[in-house]
Amino acid sequence: MSKRPGANDSLASQKLPRENGRFSKKLPMKDYISEVIAGAKARNPGEPEFHQAVEEVVESLSLVLDRHPEYRAAKILERIIEPERVIMFRVPWRDDEGNFHVNRGFRIQMNSAIGPYKGGMRFHPSVNLGILKFLAFEQVFKNALTTLPMGGAKGGSDFDPKGKSDFEVMRFCQALMSELFRHIGPDTDIPAGDIGVGSREIGFLFGMYKRLRNEFTGVMTGKGLTWGGSVIRPEATGYGAVYFAAEMLKTRKEELEGKVCLVSGSGNVAQYTVEKLISLGARPVSLSDSDGFIYDEAGITREKLAFIMDLKNVRRGRIAEYAKKFRSATYIAIDPKLDYNPLWDHKAQCAFPSATQNEINENDATNLLKNDVYVVSEGANMPTTIGGINRFLEAKILFGPGKAANAGGVATSGLEMAQNSMRISWTREEVDNRLYNIMKTIHEVCYRTAEKYGTPGNYVNGANIAGFLKVANAMMDQGLV
Ligand code: NDP
Repeated sequence: MSKRPGANDSLASQKLPRENGRFSKKLPMKDYISEVIAGAKARNPGEPEFHQAVEEVVESLSLVLDRHPEYRAAKILERIIEPERVIMFRVPWRDDEGNFHVNRGFRIQMNSAIGPYKGGMRFHPSVNLGILKFLAFEQVFKNALTTLPMGGAKGGSDFDPKGKSDFEVMRFCQALMSELFRHIGPDTDIPAGDIGVGSREIGFLFGMYKRLRNEFTGVMTGKGLTWGGSVIRPEATGYGAVYFAAEMLKTRKEELEGKVCLVSGSGNVAQYTVEKLISLGARPVSLSDSDGFIYDEAGITREKLAFIMDLKNVRRGRIAEYAKKFRSATYIAIDPKLDYNPLWDHKAQCAFPSATQNEINENDATNLLKNDVYVVSEGANMPTTIGGINRFLEAKILFGPGKAANAGGVATSGLEMAQNSMRISWTREEVDNRLYNIMKTIHEVCYRTAEKYGTPGNYVNGANIAGFLKVANAMMDQGLV
């Protein structure tokens, strides 16, 4: 038996495959992989995003499983795609007029092999079990890549914060936490933000947890700076996605300075992506929300970004207002009849999808390539469809998949947890340096792993294989649990 890459020589890791006796070599690898994917689809009907995430990861792993049949014998793949625990619950709350509402709350505790469950909470009307399972599954591999001890989870609700008053959002957060508090804790599961969950929501959630438990612990990350939060946490995902792009460019002896960059979204990730791009001398030219996008060929400057931050974080307005304020910009509303997104049909060198899943389909990928884009760094989770990814991989552009490129957010959450445990606060420089070094290490690991497994330059394989190995080895060491 070949030694597992990076494995301990523990009793469990030595015994498990031998006790199983057979290495299940009956099916050729290709058929085995297809069988696992088909099995996941059959067991999880009506969850297309989860199927897509499983397919993308599992397809990358055949080479590892070929070299190390013990993972297959121990059914690591079958285990890793099954959540350890799924929690679903009713969230009843009252609006300002006294009307009653019922939403659904979720927490998917996917894998705790390398640390307590960790992952964001999403509030968006599109949230359902399948979407959160895809996000939790991705989170397992992403967290493994950060080099920090964090398992994978995700949660949220189909609650729509848009148009709600602060009091309504607070009542909803309190209602949700009145059930969620039973299932989380600083050594069990540490939620954070995601779409629709920013500093306001984290404050309300944390406050209710503290009240119910009567303890002040680091149970959530993304906290306010005066009550346990870390500097750079709000900036981390966007900054990290830009650092990752810069590292990819370095492999071609290039830098971001002077590059034209398409950015989607206008929330947390998009805003700090734009901020870091400006500071590195690049020219971000677009932003979007769920109603449409703006294109500003002159470039989004610091002054324009300040307007967006006020618009989105304080006034909670729509991106269309940007084009009314700045004459150099045009606004295009979303046209649901189109089978492509015109945002991605502009001349540029780099793209930073930072809104939501499946926002770049195969047609968009074709348009990006046609328009000379050769760097794509995914700030959002799974923003590119499998067809789109294949187009990028065929064209051999620098494509950084979300689970590597946007890992800076959860990595800095890990740094927030470390500071909470030590009851200290690091400076901005200290946290930013650590973030930068983590992104550099993630890039290096993905790059080297892709090379080692025979697909140089393929960061998708690099990220999936490196993340898998760390979690799979821990699962082998811990026995059949
Ligand atoms: P925000 O809620 O701050 O912003 C989300 C942005 O995306 C908004 O502009 C929103 O527009 C837009 N958007 C959301 N859903 C859709 C949709 N269905 N169609 C079109 N536009 C949409 O979220 P974040 O910036 O935090 O998250 C963005 C992405 O980054 C997500 O994929 C998230 O999972 C991922 N991510 C976030 C991390 C973090 O630290 N926050 C960490 C790692 C990944 P509108 O306001 O109109 O809804």
